Amino acid sequence: MYKKLTEEEIVDSIDTAIREGYIFPYFQPQINHSTGRMIGAEALMRWEDPEFGMQFPKEFIPVLESYDLIFQADLYMFEEVCKFQKYCLDNKISAVPISCNMSRYDIYRHDYVEQIEEIRRKYDVPVRLLRIEIMESSAIGGMEIVAQALDKLHYYGYLVEMDDFGNGYSSLNILKDLDVDIIKLDMNFLDGGTGGRGGTIISSIIQMTKWLNTPVIAEGVETTDQADYMESIGCSYVQGFLYFNPLSKDEFISELNKLDHEPLTPAMNLIRTMDAGKFWDPDSMETLIFSNFVGAAAVLTYQEGRVEILRVNKKYIRELGMNMDETELIGTDPWEMYDDNNKAIYEATIRRAIRSGEEESCETKRLVCSKSCGDAEIWVSTDLRVIGHAGEQYLIYTMIKNITSEKENMIASIAHEKRLRTAFDQANVFAWEYFFATKEMRPCFRCMRELHLPPVVENYPEPLFENGLFPEDHREMYYDMLKSLEEGKESAEAVIPLTVGRIPFHVRYTTEFDEMGKPLKAYGSAVLVVNEEN
Ligand code: C2E
Ligand code: CA
Ligand code: CA
Repeated sequence: MYKKLTEEEIVDSIDTAIREGYIFPYFQPQINHSTGRMIGAEALMRWEDPEFGMQFPKEFIPVLESYDLIFQADLYMFEEVCKFQKYCLDNKISAVPISCNMSRYDIYRHDYVEQIEEIRRKYDVPVRLLRIEIMESSAIGGMEIVAQALDKLHYYGYLVEMDDFGNGYSSLNILKDLDVDIIKLDMNFLDGGTGGRGGTIISSIIQMTKWLNTPVIAEGVETTDQADYMESIGCSYVQGFLYFNPLSKDEFISELNKLDHEPLTPAMNLIRTMDAGKFWDPDSMETLIFSNFVGAAAVLTYQEGRVEILRVNKKYIRELGMNMDETELIGTDPWEMYDDNNKAIYEATIRRAIRSGEEESCETKRLVCSKSCGDAEIWVSTDLRVIGHAGEQYLIYTMIKNITSEKENMIASIAHEKRLRTAFDQANVFAWEYFFATKEMRPCFRCMRELHLPPVVENYPEPLFENGLFPEDHREMYYDMLKSLEEGKESAEAVIPLTVGRIPFHVRYTTEFDEMGKPLKAYGSAVLVVNEEN
């Protein structure tokens, strides 16, 4: 006769259930959907009460947790799994790694990891045949405790799976803080199926995890459609009713004997829904090129106003010049680097790139913070291009150039030029620069103000003859003078009646040369000829 145990009955009978073996593991195989081979299994707790029938974990585990009894049950389960693996090894049954669940209350017990390690040694099971699952939500009680447990597990050599990833509690950020080896993505948390938003969330998680080289197991996979979809975005490891329900020990052994096995490796299939799939394949030509042959490059995602950095190459980090490591860039919020104005410029460039499908560019100022160099404001020129998209999520390839020193020089030289022009304005002098290569003349403020010249006079000196500021009968002489300077003469001077009033001015030129000794430009000045006798 079946009856669900009450809370009181659970608490009262747990010791007996463990002692008498009413509690035992079921095993749910994990399959590579692309090859049909088994890559591991998860041990799931079952409680068969001799009087009231099968009890399910969803009912009794929360009770055990709230009475601080779960660690007994989990240690017992771990021991049963070790016994099982030992049995397989001793009987030439080809074993696969089995994952054991670790409650978040186990994590809070400071010696839990030591206790399981002792059990493993007792049965002499190789650590590669055991994995530990911790729930993503364990981190609610504090990241540090979970990180410590993880360190200990890694110290002993256990691979750690993050269970129930994508339940909404933390998303991608947790991956950067917790160094897990495998991620379990629960299909049931992603409502709306594989299309629409759910699908986009899954595919962005897969992209991210691929970059981190972390394999993903999709769990709760019930249909071929779901498994095919996961495979299409590069995640072919599945666990769920589609392949197997949780199996009894004997059923599991018979599947172990029937199915081929293969080790779990980072899933590296192409992302077919994005053109840019090959970017996530570490062996692809694209990755090789990305890492070695292009300049400072990064891959970002952009969705509904949010930007996330997925990948950067070494040159990108070097270009920022801040002694950073990748972790200081990946997963951080890039928007924090910009003030409102620069953010608007950057985002507008992304939008343009989305519309045009072409490469678009901008120059922005960013605030970069690094552990080793502190904070600095830098100028970056960015070229970016959309290389793929899934729904509203865009994958963007960007190349950057640090133009801080150019910018600073330019700002300094503008200031310098301004000071120079102001100085001439104070003295009774008209001054200008003449560039040989472009035939441009840049006048001082006084020239601009009193002679109504634009900031740049093109095709100099022709316009000044045309508007009558220069006398026509000096045309040949003036052109000859400029020509001699252009040919390398260091200076030249002449008295010329200038302006419409034909007032005599002393015109002087001094040539500036480049490092190769080639004439670059000439500084010109005109001073009123003062009759010394007056
Ligand atoms: P979980 O760790 O997420 O385990 C997967 C659960 O999903 C299992 O439920 C499994 O039977 C079920 N499942 C498998 N395939 C499918 C599918 O295709 N669709 C759906 N809808 N469900 C599927 P189960 O065995 O009832 O376990 C429930 C939960 O109880 C587990 O969730 C885990 O959180 C906890 N649990 C189970 N065994 C242990 C244990 O030994 N220790 C601890 N601390 N918790 C355990
Ligand atoms: Ca689990
Ligand atoms: Ca799960």
